Amino acid sequence: MSEKIKLQNKNSISPEAETRADPIIFQNYDTVIVGAGPAGLACARVCAEAGATVAVFERREQIGEKVCAGGITMHGILDRFKDIVQCTFPSQTIVTPWQRAEIHAKKAIIATLNRIELGERMAQEAREAGVHIFLGVQVKKINSGFITVCIKNKLGEEEQQVHYTCLVGADGSNSRVRRFLGLSVDLKGFGINCQLPITREKMEWHLNPALFASGYAWIFPHRETTSIGAYADSRMISARDLRKSFETWAEAQGFNLEGQQIRAENINFDYQGIEFKKDSRIYLVGDAAGLASGLTGEGIYSAVISGEYVGNRIMKPSWENEAFTRLEASHARHLKAVRYARIHPNHLPLLSEGTCLLLRLGLLPINKAEMGG
Ligand SMILES: Cc1cc2nc3c(=O)[nH]c(=O)nc-3n(C[C@H](O)[C@H](O)[C@H](O)COP(=O)(O)OP(=O)(O)OC[C@H]3O[C@@H](n4cnc5c(N)ncnc54)[C@H](O)[C@@H]3O)c2cc1C
Repeated sequence: MSEKIKLQNKNSISPEAETRADPIIFQNYDTVIVGAGPAGLACARVCAEAGATVAVFERREQIGEKVCAGGITMHGILDRFKDIVQCTFPSQTIVTPWQRAEIHAKKAIIATLNRIELGERMAQEAREAGVHIFLGVQVKKINSGFITVCIKNKLGEEEQQVHYTCLVGADGSNSRVRRFLGLSVDLKGFGINCQLPITREKMEWHLNPALFASGYAWIFPHRETTSIGAYADSRMISARDLRKSFETWAEAQGFNLEGQQIRAENINFDYQGIEFKKDSRIYLVGDAAGLASGLTGEGIYSAVISGEYVGNRIMKPSWENEAFTRLEASHARHLKAVRYARIHPNHLPLLSEGTCLLLRLGLLPINKAEMGG
């Protein structure tokens, strides 16, 4: 495995890093991963379990800090996180301008998770496999064969180079690794989230084309809080108009947003592959790869599945698996629906009422909207 050379002396380690007992940054790793979201951590664990030396660099001080509603579909991955589930929902409420449907399933198909708890769990599993995770370390520059990281310490900022054999861009929707590869993001959505200090019982999906076009607003209960938010295709509604629509909708639902933090982020769904060659082996996973759903904004499942897939392919290039093939198919199906909506926006009222009716009549299984479905 790689030759490890100690780059940092004790004085240059930030106080936060010292209390977190971060490992020391070495000069070479087999795999360097940018970003400690679910995609990066899943990929890191798989590579380390197979014997590679792995470093994950995360610019934030805390793992899991992310604008997100925390909804996670049951398909496949939820079983692994059972003990950190906040709430599960065997029934869902779909609301349109004309209908309100209660969809009941024998088994819950969706749950909510706290992203920090999810991040900590995945980081723990990665560390146990031998991954070195560095928090508060931003990847500033990418080159073929090495990256430049920026470490904050008492004296200011210090830059260091770290060499890699494989580089994984798991750095979210505004990925620096993706930019280095010269890939643009032409297909993206925008999501708004507000975590209210109230509790609610029901998980609700509000389809209202006049406010959200092909997107929707949600009410996702957590144990002690409730996430409300909205998602829309950026080509159909600007970020500014989505915010206005969200506020109009929230007020109509009786939510008081005064003094609440409303946070928003882009969601990249411009998927152009995961494996790239640019003098060295470079991969993209999760939102960096554009693997979130363009229709619903769901991306945690895609992040975990693509992270594990890429981790396995790094270790064994011929590796294939069914979950990733299914994910690519779901992504393409959702993209088709988004493109249809762009071309025929006037069909949306009829489509949302029709979808709700089919769900009510049990003619359309609700898990068809899942990325793992
Ligand atoms: C409002 C909103 C609500 C959402 N709700 C849901 C939901 O309910 N369910 C669902 O499945 N999905 C949801 N999503 C999408 C989901 O959050 C993402 O798809 C998912 O987090 C993608 O995981 P990831 O690991 O690819 O990227 P991220 O979780 O974004 O992780 C990327 C990490 O890289 C780090 N990073 C970035 N640049 C650098 C750098 N230069 N150096 C070091 N670190 C860097 C970031 O700090 C971040 O921690 C939502 C998104 C939004 C915006």
